[in-house]
Amino acid sequence: MDHDREPAHRKADPRLFHGLIEAEGRSYSNWGLHRTTRPAVYAEPSTYADVQALVRDTSRFPTPVHPVGSLLSVSSTFVNDGGTLVCLRKLDEVIGLERDPLGRDVVRVQGGCRLKKLNMWLQARGLEVPFQAEIGEASVGSVAAGDTKDSSLDGPGYFSAHVVGLTYVDETGALRTLTDHADGAAFHEFKCSFGLAGIIVECLVEVRPATLCRSSISIGAYATPEELARALLAKRSECDALLAVAFPHRLVSLFDQRTEAGAGAATPAASQPECETFRLAKRLAIQHGFDGVDVPQPEGIVCSRADLVNEYWRPTTDERRLDFQYYEHDITEVERVVSESYAFTKSFQERTGFAPSGFATYFVTRLPREKKPFGLYSDGPGVSFSFDPLTSNPAHPAWQDFSREYNELAIRRLGGRASPIQTQWLKSGDVTIPRRLARERFTTPYYAQFLD
Ligand SMILES: Cc1cc2nc3c(=O)[nH]c(=O)nc-3n(C[C@H](O)[C@H](O)[C@H](O)COP(=O)(O)OP(=O)(O)OC[C@H]3O[C@@H](n4cnc5c(N)ncnc54)[C@H](O)[C@@H]3O)c2cc1C
Repeated sequence: MDHDREPAHRKADPRLFHGLIEAEGRSYSNWGLHRTTRPAVYAEPSTYADVQALVRDTSRFPTPVHPVGSLLSVSSTFVNDGGTLVCLRKLDEVIGLERDPLGRDVVRVQGGCRLKKLNMWLQARGLEVPFQAEIGEASVGSVAAGDTKDSSLDGPGYFSAHVVGLTYVDETGALRTLTDHADGAAFHEFKCSFGLAGIIVECLVEVRPATLCRSSISIGAYATPEELARALLAKRSECDALLAVAFPHRLVSLFDQRTEAGAGAATPAASQPECETFRLAKRLAIQHGFDGVDVPQPEGIVCSRADLVNEYWRPTTDERRLDFQYYEHDITEVERVVSESYAFTKSFQERTGFAPSGFATYFVTRLPREKKPFGLYSDGPGVSFSFDPLTSNPAHPAWQDFSREYNELAIRRLGGRASPIQTQWLKSGDVTIPRRLARERFTTPYYAQFLD
């Protein structure tokens, strides 16, 4: 790019840091308030040059340097005691639409931009990214190099699949760009690197004309876990994408069956106020970890999925608030996973009196292995599902014991894959990240335990 035409966020002097620096020993917590870190320095860069400057200055910004966005993650992914925590929240511009060299329509967006802001920007222009998960606060940088899940319509179901180019600051402080068409394997590997290979400041995300979704919500009760498992598969086969919240210990499940409903960027007036009532109830249910909230069961409402992406208020420690664990399994394992999870949950409940509020079940379509070489969804073409226990109090000791023990079942016995940003209490060996993806400048002790 011609330097005179570069936008201001790219032009500043990469030797100087102009952003906010906090180095007085404060601690930072995640959304659920059950994980905290005390970095030596917390920095909020305002420009790409700020990110470059801080990566270069090892005395003022101690190693490791670790990027975060909205600090929503449930695991210790952001923990960086004594290091430099870099929050990208000020780099949150949606820069504009472009056509890339392969003729694809793409949006250029900064790494700290929240998904809800990006969705609304695209919706106003009649466009969308097929990934429209429940979470509107997650930042583009985090979901481009990290793990996500959504029961997407006509799309894979994880955000990074739509990222076709990215700009990042490497361990020397250089600003680098990778694209799928020019860099192939290096690009796809970078998207599996959780910030260990560099700090993402900008992404190119493929977009398509906005579509509408017809959603039907229902509840089913079953006599056995096997019947519940079969119902999940049957409900999925009746629609284009299924999200379920199963309550295996009660042998009940809530289903959101989604079907493509043609072109359109706005929820039709005919679906209001049902769609808005549903959105608000769903937001409250997720905010409160599905504890004590009734979700309405509209039949066949047509909506823009972008409207159903929600933002959640920052809870206090005495409030009910969502916490969860994530596990990926192949769809052929549905019956085994549901039955064994039922047996485990029942026996845990008999021993301790505790059972999770439910298990979120997403279905994600996998791409060829070259496009997702490591971590979740890296088994090549096929369909994965998740069976994710959730609760309303992340600090509850019984929930934490449940999660640790369930890790043994889901990862070790059932062969599920876990995520370093969406699965808690992981041990070395539960997740493997290739060592060659990790630069020393960016490797925290939390991530060091997973390198192989
Ligand atoms: C209420 C709630 C609902 C949720 N619902 C969903 C859902 O429906 N679907 C779903 O997939 N997830 C969901 N999540 C999980 C959430 O989307 C992910 O944890 C997401 O990564 C959070 O984004 P963040 O910006 O807060 O990341 P942070 O927690 O700030 O960072 C997480 C990690 O991302 C990496 N990272 C962050 N920024 C960068 C960068 N610029 N460059 C490189 N690496 C970076 C780092 O490894 C960092 O530790 C939910 C979470 C909550 C609390």
